[in-house]
Amino acid sequence: MGEISVRNITKSWADFAALKNINLDVREGEFLSILGPSGCGKSTLLRIIAGLENPTGGDIVIAGRRVTDDPVWKRKIGFVFQNFALWPHLTVFRNVSMGLELRKTPKNEVHERVIEALRMVQLEALADRLPSQLSGGQQQRVALARAIVLKPHVLLLDEPLSALDKNLRQDMQVELKALQQTLGLTTVFVTHDQEEALSLSDRVVVMNRGVIEQLDTPDNIYNKPVSEYVARFVGEAFFFRGALECLRGGKHLRMQDGRSVPANAEFEASPGEAVGFVRPEWISLSKLDDPNPDVLQGKVERLMFFGQSSDYIVRVGDHPMRVKRRSDVPTLSEGDTVAVHCTARLLPNEGKAR
Ligand code: ATP
Repeated sequence: MGEISVRNITKSWADFAALKNINLDVREGEFLSILGPSGCGKSTLLRIIAGLENPTGGDIVIAGRRVTDDPVWKRKIGFVFQNFALWPHLTVFRNVSMGLELRKTPKNEVHERVIEALRMVQLEALADRLPSQLSGGQQQRVALARAIVLKPHVLLLDEPLSALDKNLRQDMQVELKALQQTLGLTTVFVTHDQEEALSLSDRVVVMNRGVIEQLDTPDNIYNKPVSEYVARFVGEAFFFRGALECLRGGKHLRMQDGRSVPANAEFEASPGEAVGFVRPEWISLSKLDDPNPDVLQGKVERLMFFGQSSDYIVRVGDHPMRVKRRSDVPTLSEGDTVAVHCTARLLPNEGKAR
């Protein structure tokens, strides 16, 4: 059993099922992200764990205790929202101390704990300021201090960095992760930003319309997605659909136009209809002067420059394929015909398996 156990949780509003039988164990000290598009049920699940929303069915267990019927304040959780939700008329110090005051903590202990929490987020010097006198990043730190001052069992974060600009957001990601590790806090983090989820988390939950599509390490989510939905949502992917042929020389995915790509699988794949995918950095290109019907080929449409890296957009059949440009290979020009070298990774939950 995890530090947080989500058991058979369902949530419906009238005849709309926002969560359909969710089961999830969050391990002690783990940083777990819930990732998915808008409306898939991420916030609803987090709010149910927090006690801000009642489930239609199922149970929540925190630190071995069933808390399903407990109010928020009894659950020993820290919660940080997207919009920080600071009290505008209270100083930084009072924003952080309020939770302790409401719990009737002795005055000298309140002072000590607030100063300690503010030190952790590097804000002791600004304790007397009002939220309006702080930057976005500083406000976010106050919200974090307010959560950790209560010494929660678990920290629940609902898109806490989404209001910040890119640079500040990246800095805060590093700080948040360091703080979480220092305190060993079991953390559930809701985001729709896949990079943020992959870089911060021990494990990631990808949700799709009220169900968990995959729960896995960031590496497996990116490299071994179980479905087209996960492969598409997390990172760039190009898909091949066709018939899987298992020959002595290996597996091949034969497409309708007769061409084929080599394929591999992490699971027992049998011949028949299948879907495979490739990531931009798994593909290499070589200039093809003589068109060859046996070779998968494409036409370079564009080179996209991003500073530290660049991508080719190559038209393969009717579809654009994104290919990471390798610096050790001569630059290709727009309009070049190229051979596309790649091995498609088969998706277990697509094709015949579903
Ligand atoms: P976002 O990233 O946009 O915040 P989300 O994945 O967090 O999305 P939720 O806020 O959990 O999504 O909502 C899940 C679904 O439940 C949505 O379709 C939403 O419209 C619906 N929903 C949420 N709250 C209510 C409510 N009070 N009454 C009816 N439907 C609701």
